[in-house]
Amino acid sequence: MPEASLSTLDRAAVLDRLERERFDLAVIGGGISGAGIAREATLRGASVALLESADFASGTSSRSSKLIHGGLRYLALGDVALVRSTALERKEIHRLAPHLAEPRFMLVPARSRAALLKFRAGLTAYEKLGGVTGDDLHRTFTGDELAREEPLLDRRRFPFACAYREYLTDDAHLVLANLRHAAEHGAAVLNYAGVTSIEVEGGRAAGVSARCGETGREVRVRARCVINAAGPWVEAVQRLERPDAPPLLHLSKGVHVVFPADRLPVRHMLVLGTDDRRSIFAIRRGGVVYLGTTDTSYAGSCREWPEIEERDVAYLLDPLSRYLAPPLPAISDAVAAWAGLRPLVAQPGKPPTEISRRDEIAVGPRGVVTLAGGKLTGYRPTARRTLEVAADAAGLSLAAPAEEEPPLPGGDFDGNLDALGAAIAGETGIARDCADRLVRLHGSESRDVVKLGSAPLLPGAPVLTGEVDFAVLHEGAARVEDVIYRRIRSALYVPEARDRGVLPVAARMAALLGWDAARRLREIDGVRARLAADLAFRDEAAEESA
Ligand code: FAD
Repeated sequence: MPEASLSTLDRAAVLDRLERERFDLAVIGGGISGAGIAREATLRGASVALLESADFASGTSSRSSKLIHGGLRYLALGDVALVRSTALERKEIHRLAPHLAEPRFMLVPARSRAALLKFRAGLTAYEKLGGVTGDDLHRTFTGDELAREEPLLDRRRFPFACAYREYLTDDAHLVLANLRHAAEHGAAVLNYAGVTSIEVEGGRAAGVSARCGETGREVRVRARCVINAAGPWVEAVQRLERPDAPPLLHLSKGVHVVFPADRLPVRHMLVLGTDDRRSIFAIRRGGVVYLGTTDTSYAGSCREWPEIEERDVAYLLDPLSRYLAPPLPAISDAVAAWAGLRPLVAQPGKPPTEISRRDEIAVGPRGVVTLAGGKLTGYRPTARRTLEVAADAAGLSLAAPAEEEPPLPGGDFDGNLDALGAAIAGETGIARDCADRLVRLHGSESRDVVKLGSAPLLPGAPVLTGEVDFAVLHEGAARVEDVIYRRIRSALYVPEARDRGVLPVAARMAALLGWDAARRLREIDGVRARLAADLAFRDEAAEESA
């Protein structure tokens, strides 16, 4: 069984530890920023407490487009250093966790040979700068080859396509893998533990107070330095240190909508131009294709679940008719959707589409280190810089960064996901589609998942009972929503198990966690309401057309 475990059964012991020990760092926020900082810090010898107010990755870090970007976009900005570092970073994430950085083709359709050549010139420069080699180099498709590779593309309008590499991840599992690695190296990591105040001694932050959302227990966590990595909530946490902290962020809402692949049979990942001169992606993942994303200013309160409106989905569907051959999906065909908030560092006067995705690290009046902005892709360099600022601010001495970091949990295999899926299906007798899905979430740890339960969670869906056990015993899942949305991810990518998976997941969690009937019912009702709210835009659209 895996060494890197966050077991929900250990909750009371972790709370005891949080109260008993004094840590070098208290990290607020269990998204990719906090998880990356916690892992980097423990690998460099620091003791770490990480507190997350809801579930791990329940904020922006489970709602992204799930791409480890290679940095092509930075070429247009002329930022050569950033192009290079992002391309190298992509390779490094692939080395650490090949199951969470799958190389895939991104196809850019071209109307003419001249347009194709222009795009290729840019790509060639980018690949040289970024040290892109081998299978990752771009190629072009036309004629029969294009018909084979992307049959849905309207070849009368787009007779050419350029295919370059991007890496597809599962954002929530990337967060979990980093947190589990940090825990394996000694970090005390807890979800449903919201920080309610900053403890101050002699004018300096000396820890935090947190409240356990499961038991109501209050704990004081002592730490030499406090890091605020609360994503879209970063300003609220800043106000715990300094009530008059000036606004920092411009929140932007990004929506994705999911269709069954038989209603939108895209094979690769496609770039589609929008009317307002942006690009969106159509991304194939197993049996579904998702479209995303929108990028609109969000003025609402910083809720966990920003609303998905019919106009968001209409915007994402609009370009399809310009690129793809009919029949095209309608709003009513959507089987899932998600919305996230980008915590962009505000640049007054600029709309969200023009705001740079850079991050900002600042030290507050009591010494709290705040990280704002950033991307999933650059989480390791961001974590390193934040940690170094924290070490300076608190006088901590850190070990030098390792020359070659150890792989993340599940990442110790040769990177061939198809071969790993085939091997696991062969060894264990589970269905091939199930193994293929599993290895893209758990990598080499898929074998541990299957050992916990190889029976299907429900007939006709490629999900195993062992996934629920693994989620609770090794990935800190405490609620049904955690499992459905951020562990097995049926709420996003497995429509066959989206609604039907709720009861069996609740039954298995009740057995593992000793829930009574009332708790089980609350869990079921809560997650069903959530799943329905995600697709409420379909009713809105139906009402309008009635
Ligand atoms: P979050 O993931 O939001 O984590 C912050 C955490 O802090 C939350 O879990 C929250 O519950 C917790 N918290 C808040 N208050 C408290 C408190 N008081 N106590 C304890 N915990 C607290 N990047 C890419 O590289 N590739 C992409 O393809 C990509 N696509 C994107 C698409 C969309 C639609 C969006 C919105 C973003 C995308 N990004 C992408 C950007 C990327 O997802 C984010 O930059 C990143 O996930 C932010 O992570 P974070 O940890 O800073 O914030």
